[in-house]
Amino acid sequence: MADSSYNPFTNAQEQFGKVADMLGLEGGARDLLSAPMKEFHFTIPVKMDDGSVKVFKAFRIKHSDARGPAKGGIRFHPHETADTVRALAMWMTWKTAVVDIPLGGGKGGVICDPREMSQGEQERLCRGYIRQLYSQVGPDVDVPAPDVMTNGQHMIWMMDEYEALMGARSPGVITGKPVGMGGSLGRTEATGYGVVYTLRDLLAAEGVDIKSTTASVQGFGNVAEYAAKLYTQLGGKVVCISCWDNADKTAYTFRNKAGLDIEALVTIKDKFGSIDKEKAAALGCEILPGGAWLAEDVDILIPAALENQITPANFGGVSKRVRFIAEGANGPVTPDCDPLIDAAGIRLIPDFLCNAGGVTCSYFEQVQGNMNYFWPREEVLDKLEAAMGKAFAAVYALAKEKNVSLRDAAYMIAINRVAEAVRWRGWA
Ligand code: NAD
Repeated sequence: MADSSYNPFTNAQEQFGKVADMLGLEGGARDLLSAPMKEFHFTIPVKMDDGSVKVFKAFRIKHSDARGPAKGGIRFHPHETADTVRALAMWMTWKTAVVDIPLGGGKGGVICDPREMSQGEQERLCRGYIRQLYSQVGPDVDVPAPDVMTNGQHMIWMMDEYEALMGARSPGVITGKPVGMGGSLGRTEATGYGVVYTLRDLLAAEGVDIKSTTASVQGFGNVAEYAAKLYTQLGGKVVCISCWDNADKTAYTFRNKAGLDIEALVTIKDKFGSIDKEKAAALGCEILPGGAWLAEDVDILIPAALENQITPANFGGVSKRVRFIAEGANGPVTPDCDPLIDAAGIRLIPDFLCNAGGVTCSYFEQVQGNMNYFWPREEVLDKLEAAMGKAFAAVYALAKEKNVSLRDAAYMIAINRVAEAVRWRGWA
């Protein structure tokens, strides 16, 4: 996906290797954590509406369950690859560890384009995914969730198929369920809000008033929408949003130098996070090429769409004014760009900390489901804010103490926690 010259799994392994060196992590623990523990590659035959059968390729990859059942989303994307899923599974391990929740790391994906599939075809695909995998997922084994182009409806179809096969209700098999069907209030906004909780804390720690800042955002899906909403509620100004236009098969940047009206843009986006061009122009947005968001003269960049978006090849185009990057997406900055970002004095909140709000809230969903008692939205968001704040403070303090980047500090905390679990279990 995205820039195909970068392999996300190679990126993830490079990041791990660098910090493993810094930590002096050697032997079995290093070998074990540098690759997934289990991989499932399978095909799903789906009866299409026109009577034909289409066969979809799918993956579920568990990187580590040393700290608890594997946890991670299922992505539907036409350019999904095993290596993307491997990288994301690995990042999930570090993510659950850095926010200190008792879960491991996994990820799933199907090579498909739900934008081109009817509801019935999508339902049959979801049920087929679980029929191939049901013996390898479960509340104590591996717990999927929604991710790129999957949603609560997909999760319910999957849960329903799992329950039919197991002959019992088992809501803990999946998170990201709709509210009223075992879902948690606050889950929809959790990832985007978590991005902004960490950004707000970083700005405060660096003595910057959020109200004086401007931001440019890539993406307007689940993560980006709620990040943009909370950031503007806190007084920041979003100047650009870039998103994909599926009809034109290209991305556009929507810009308003006076500040975009996020609430109005939400009313003219589709469920895949694409903004209607004509309606946006009527709202006063300039419509620029998709990459323009990166070159905008702002204080903060929030890449919240795809991996491999900020690279040495385009970093030269980033405005000298940019002081902060909040990685809302997974892997939006390539590892070879990190040294350039550090040298430019930009503070970057790494993806697996920045976007950990979603999995933290998924964990809360599991806790509430186990109690069969659901908390009000404010209680969920208060707990989320506390968890993100605690994780950010620990990472920021370690980065200061060791004089390393926030990414390296976050990795040091996460890898140490997982390596400790591996040693406790006697695996290495
Ligand atoms: P989404 O499918 O809801 O939205 C994706 C957005 O990216 C859409 O607005 C789409 O138009 C845009 N986009 C796609 N290609 C683009 C391009 N070439 N240029 C500009 N915009 C483009 O996805 P999401 O759930 O918001 O996830 C976004 C990222 O955040 C992914 O990397 C995902 O893995 C990560 N993430 C999501 C969650 C979550 O809870 N949803 C949690 C953690 C991490």
